Amino acid sequence: MTLPVCPLCPQGVGRGSKDAEASRTTLCQTDAGTVLWRNDFCRVVLADEPDYPGFLRVILNAHVKEMTDLSAADQSTLMRVVFATEAALVEVMQPDKINLASLGNVVPHLHWHVIPRFADDPHFPNPVWGQKTLHGKRHAAPDLMQLATALSRRLAPETESP
Ligand SMILES: [Zn+2]
Repeated sequence: MTLPVCPLCPQGVGRGSKDAEASRTTLCQTDAGTVLWRNDFCRVVLADEPDYPGFLRVILNAHVKEMTDLSAADQSTLMRVVFATEAALVEVMQPDKINLASLGNVVPHLHWHVIPRFADDPHFPNPVWGQKTLHGKRHAAPDLMQLATALSRRLAPETESP
């Protein structure tokens, strides 16, 4: 039985299969996307969502499925990064709302979506995965350097491994 390669695992879950090494390169390029911040525990990545500039994902480095599979300390560490990401987006983009979501139905590897929302964006007030509205518009992309700096400033104490 071959395990599917997890697109969020730097090492891939399918390691051991012949394809693992090849997948790793391809999937890392796709999924690592633009990494705005990272440490040994997790990473903050810019999602490739054209309708949603500033859509970030906080991805745990280890292949873990549920929050409750983590120790209490690791749960807190991960959420501190999620909240720092939210705060950085609020500072840089001043959205009307931040949406936090952890689904993992398609990719069962812990990751949080941190999505800046605007009252006139393409789906508001629906979730970004819901029904598009007719009047929504795409917002300007944030300055990635500014975003990365805002993240680093908040996460500086986290750069030591948890
Ligand atoms: Zn994984």
